[in-house]
Amino acid sequence: LPETLDAVVVGGGLIGSSIALRLAQKKLRVVVLDQREPGAEASVAAAGILSPQAESNERSPFFDLCSASRDLYPPFAAELEEATGIDVELRLDGVLYVALSEAEQARLDARFRWQSAAGLAVERLTAAAAHDLEPTLRSNAVGGVLFPKDGQVENVRLTRAVIVAASRAGVRFEAGNPARRILHAQGRVRGVEAASGNFTSGCVVLAAGAWSGFDGDLPFPVPVGPARGELVAAEAAVAPRRVVYSHEVYVVPRRDGRILFGATMEKTGFDKRVKAEALRSLLEAGFELLPGLRGAAFHSAWAGLRPCAPDDLPLLGRTPLEGLFLATAHFRNGILLAPLTARVTADLVTTGNAGWDLSPFSVTRFQRL
Ligand SMILES: Cc1cc2nc3c(=O)[nH]c(=O)nc-3n(C[C@H](O)[C@H](O)[C@H](O)COP(=O)(O)OP(=O)(O)OC[C@H]3O[C@@H](n4cnc5c(N)ncnc54)[C@H](O)[C@@H]3O)c2cc1C
Repeated sequence: LPETLDAVVVGGGLIGSSIALRLAQKKLRVVVLDQREPGAEASVAAAGILSPQAESNERSPFFDLCSASRDLYPPFAAELEEATGIDVELRLDGVLYVALSEAEQARLDARFRWQSAAGLAVERLTAAAAHDLEPTLRSNAVGGVLFPKDGQVENVRLTRAVIVAASRAGVRFEAGNPARRILHAQGRVRGVEAASGNFTSGCVVLAAGAWSGFDGDLPFPVPVGPARGELVAAEAAVAPRRVVYSHEVYVVPRRDGRILFGATMEKTGFDKRVKAEALRSLLEAGFELLPGLRGAAFHSAWAGLRPCAPDDLPLLGRTPLEGLFLATAHFRNGILLAPLTARVTADLVTTGNAGWDLSPFSVTRFQRL
């Protein structure tokens, strides 16, 4: 008789693996299917910035989701280190956003105003104060804003830690075993048809990143596609002290000495090549912002595919098929959103209650006739 699983998770990126970890901790028997090696796609291509505040122009359900997820990071990182011995290099020591023109300063000022009115930690800086905070910064910036609670995590270590922790908690990872179809009958999910055969379960979590639209025969659309992003890494004798943004680029210092310059954005299909132009534009914008890094040596460059819905918002929670849950389309914020996505999805699967209003992120928003 084929084994019946409590849950099948399609996609072993950071999102699927984090959900699987939480489900296994709730004593569910879970299999994660991955078409390649788990944790080899967007989750390891990312820059690992955790910046709900630095990127938000207004309060919204999406902002609240991002901000709550950032606040789950300290216990999440501690739990992973305890379970696996892997230090995920969490640093919530602030993100510095620098304006290089008056127009950028006006945009940053608006961001500063709504956040300080909302009682969030945010500091407006003169150009001189920004330079004191970040000596590699160019001296003639217009000004800046420090978002002291934002920061970064080393997402390659993080993804590995989550996969190791999930395996230790009893999750079975099936590498090189793509899901081909979600099985369902009478409005209920029945399992997954995979390359190796069928996996029977009344609960399936679709977390296949940019590939989440792979089953065109579902009774509702899952409009998710790839948004390519390229990053360049360099090494220099001096590094910025924390994550620094301009309107054109962000620069991320890693503990191992690498400095990441990111990221491009192109919705041009499943193409992970790094364009030569990306190297030029990212480094040019990075050196314009932080001339102190001009002597840096090239280290490496890579591209990844962000999972993206037409309105750039995530797809989370229940679907019109009972037992099928979505956790995808995290677009530019899937690292940031992993801890909260894992918690609410696991709570929804096991108790029927996510403990969070997921209606703004429901797939039914694309079903309007
Ligand atoms: C250049 C770049 C920079 C980024 N920077 C940041 C950042 O600073 N901060 C941040 O929060 N986010 C960032 N992101 C976004 C973040 O990387 C993603 O939102 C996140 O990794 C999505 O995780 P995921 O698990 O959904 O997808 P993925 O990591 O892509 O995992 C999906 C998995 O599903 C598997 N899969 C696909 N189809 C199937 C199938 N049919 N059957 C079985 N398995 C399947 C794939 O093999 C893959 O392992 C960045 C992304 C890029 C590309």
